[in-house]
Amino acid sequence: MKIVDLKTFVVGNPWKNWVFIKLYTDEGLTGLGEATGGLSTKPWVGDVDELRRHVIGEDPLHPDRLALKLIKARYLSNSKGISAIEQASWDILGKSLNAPLWQIFGGKHHETLRVYANGWYRGPRDPAFFAESAAQMVAKGYTALKFDPFGGAYQQITKESEDLAIEIVRAVRQAVGRSVDILIEAHDRFTVGTAVRVGRRLEEFEPMWIETPVRSYDLAGHIEVARSIRVPVVLGEAFGELRQFADLLAHRVIDIVQPEPQTLGPSAARKTMAIAQAYDALVACHQAQSPFCTAMNAHLHASIPHFLIQENFDDGAEPWTWDVLSGVPRVENGVLRVPDAPGWGVELNEDEALQHPYGERNFLRLFEEGWETRRPKSEQ
Ligand SMILES: [Mg+2]
Repeated sequence: MKIVDLKTFVVGNPWKNWVFIKLYTDEGLTGLGEATGGLSTKPWVGDVDELRRHVIGEDPLHPDRLALKLIKARYLSNSKGISAIEQASWDILGKSLNAPLWQIFGGKHHETLRVYANGWYRGPRDPAFFAESAAQMVAKGYTALKFDPFGGAYQQITKESEDLAIEIVRAVRQAVGRSVDILIEAHDRFTVGTAVRVGRRLEEFEPMWIETPVRSYDLAGHIEVARSIRVPVVLGEAFGELRQFADLLAHRVIDIVQPEPQTLGPSAARKTMAIAQAYDALVACHQAQSPFCTAMNAHLHASIPHFLIQENFDDGAEPWTWDVLSGVPRVENGVLRVPDAPGWGVELNEDEALQHPYGERNFLRLFEEGWETRRPKSEQ
């Protein structure tokens, strides 16, 4: 089988433009992948475009080999475009064997996957609003909620803003009760000293974790924070190399990792899961892109025994999302059921995708006050 064409589709989701790629083969099978950048869009469209000459004529039935060829072409650097091409190749491989990818990954350890909701607090940075929104999510069946209560804090946080963050967490905990997990996202915001101070204040609310309290590349900083507070510290979404997972876990202090399959590529993501298994650590993949990645992560998570919980933004998706993407599993009673259709099980409706073009304001500026609304600045 040969790849004969490669197309890119940008879909203007309001808080993050989604970038999809589609591979076409000489046997009529197509494959879908995602190269969403989040805080930038066009570099990844260009990334895919420049990879084109390395991809046309290749056999998509060897995704790991194809990905390595592209990584070598970039002097041993991975990229979102390379990952998206690899994802689409896996999709074609699954379709060619008429098998869902969880089957090809070794079968299922889980029939359903517990989910935590993210992106559910689209409004003012106000404890009452967070509490009310959290209660609504619990009423829908969610048993775990993630949120960043820290506003636009960068390195430091003012006393007033820190106190507000604590009151937001307190209000959410009171609204949802002890049986619902709350997960604190810190978005790389703090110095080690600030992270330890804030982390200690969070202990009374028993969060399931605090995520990237210091810069994602800072393994020693995360280890120090983790040793200093009684809240589990998690990271991994920004890691691009297998070695980073091994180096982190070798300390035996942090035991939950968050690989990002959309940037690592499915093959490398599965290898990070094996590294985690070697250290008896748990896996909760990062995901903040389109619902295509919900499906991809569901296949990956279902195939490992040490799955912890899956991230999900889909409840707040625009209604047209479900016309652009078909076959995506939806959260019901706080869990996902992994798709059984061949490949990833998701198809892109090209005509519908074209109805929602790139938006120059479709970005989440996490270090600007008011980002929680997830609306362009002009509409706030
Ligand atoms: Mg994060």
